[in-house]
Amino acid sequence: MHQLDFDIVVVGAGLVGLAFACAMKNSSYRVLVIDAGEPPIFDEQDIDIRVNSIHLASQAFLETLGVWPIAVTKRACPFRIIQVWNSTGGFIEFSAKEINQTHLGHVVEQNALTSSLVAQIEEISNVELKFSAALASINEQTDQIRLHLENGLEISCRLIVGADGGNSVVRRLSKIPITEDSYHQKAIVAQVEASEPKRETAFQKFLTSGPLAFLPLTDGTYSIVWSCTERRARELRDLDDDVFGAELSEAFDYRLGDISLIGRKVSFDLRKLRAHAYFMGRVVLVGDSAHVIHPLAGMGANLGLMDAAALYETLTGHGNGALTDHRMFRRYERWRKSANHPVMMLMDALNSGFGSSSDAIRGILGTGLTLTNQVHIAKRTLIRLACGISGDLPEIAKISTMNSDTQKDTPN
Ligand SMILES: Cc1cc2nc3c(=O)[nH]c(=O)nc-3n(C[C@H](O)[C@H](O)[C@H](O)COP(=O)(O)OP(=O)(O)OC[C@H]3O[C@@H](n4cnc5c(N)ncnc54)[C@H](O)[C@@H]3O)c2cc1C
Repeated sequence: MHQLDFDIVVVGAGLVGLAFACAMKNSSYRVLVIDAGEPPIFDEQDIDIRVNSIHLASQAFLETLGVWPIAVTKRACPFRIIQVWNSTGGFIEFSAKEINQTHLGHVVEQNALTSSLVAQIEEISNVELKFSAALASINEQTDQIRLHLENGLEISCRLIVGADGGNSVVRRLSKIPITEDSYHQKAIVAQVEASEPKRETAFQKFLTSGPLAFLPLTDGTYSIVWSCTERRARELRDLDDDVFGAELSEAFDYRLGDISLIGRKVSFDLRKLRAHAYFMGRVVLVGDSAHVIHPLAGMGANLGLMDAAALYETLTGHGNGALTDHRMFRRYERWRKSANHPVMMLMDALNSGFGSSSDAIRGILGTGLTLTNQVHIAKRTLIRLACGISGDLPEIAKISTMNSDTQKDTPN
């Protein structure tokens, strides 16, 4: 049997695993990335139905990796304004100007990001990639850990980075306990066209049945994420395209005129998941394998990218003994849990508060939005949170020009 030996094996070539592996070009470690699927391909003609809103800190990280200049040419759409409102008339608008930036984030197709990362990694001598390589089992020994793949390949290494998503096999095999719950919601994702589009603006409406987001795309169309109860999602899925467009226009208060569906709709089950530990023995978790959150506010991939940046910094900030230093992984875990958990709790609170069956609660939250819209300091705090530029960021994800601005708490 063929056997390979590496310092680090990253299981999962999603956005987070690839970003971590790409960052490791600055290290002396030999790294292998394996993925059960095929290599990602960016389709020049067709828009990938899965898009991510990438915030400023994630952009800074991808810029440092040299990946952003490639990804941004692949139909990445900047947005300068975010408008948020709810069914009781509460309204808030965030603008990039308020934090002296040109934009608040970019909407980028998933394949645009992952294919750019793969292209970059292919140029790196100490990082290898293997697709169609699914992890089946692991066997931890005193001085190494062995991975057995479904295709019969055996690999040994000193550290496994579990970047294999919400259903992480690495996490299950390492017996890391989790807390998991369904939101009893599904997200309908689709590309739509509006009769009165507004360029470079992202929108979020909090409906009682769940949040509805419109993310702008470069061709003037939008990617929508309509989170709703499972029953409502089934109804929406079965509607004719015309009726779906009419219901969507109404649910969105005709803010962009009449909306029509382009292509198909896809639905995702929504759940929350929290790994109790981010490391165990010779295994460390990043991204969705450690935490799955509600897609409202589009933070999941962004949190994962910050995990990747933090793990890179944790490993490279220490000598070669780093791969077995548990105190160091504990620091990584504390760092990332203290960043991830408050965001997860905030997403839960927003989803349940704005989705409350109580008119009074929704009314209070709506008034809160409108009042916050008038208080510059509070608003700037929220904008920083949405852009990922607050808190204890990895150095590699810091925006130097923004730091001086964001430290000022004076109103505009
Ligand atoms: C509807 C929706 C909209 C979203 N919108 C946003 C947004 O706008 N912004 C944002 O930041 N986040 C968003 N998210 C969240 C975001 O998509 C995820 O947080 C992110 O994709 C997680 O990345 P990951 O690399 O950790 O995992 P994944 O993308 O799930 O990648 C895991 C990889 O591991 C591989 N794998 C799995 N098992 C194995 C195995 N046994 N062996 C080998 N490989 C394996 C898989 O093939 C896959 O490539 C959204 C989520 C949803 C559902």
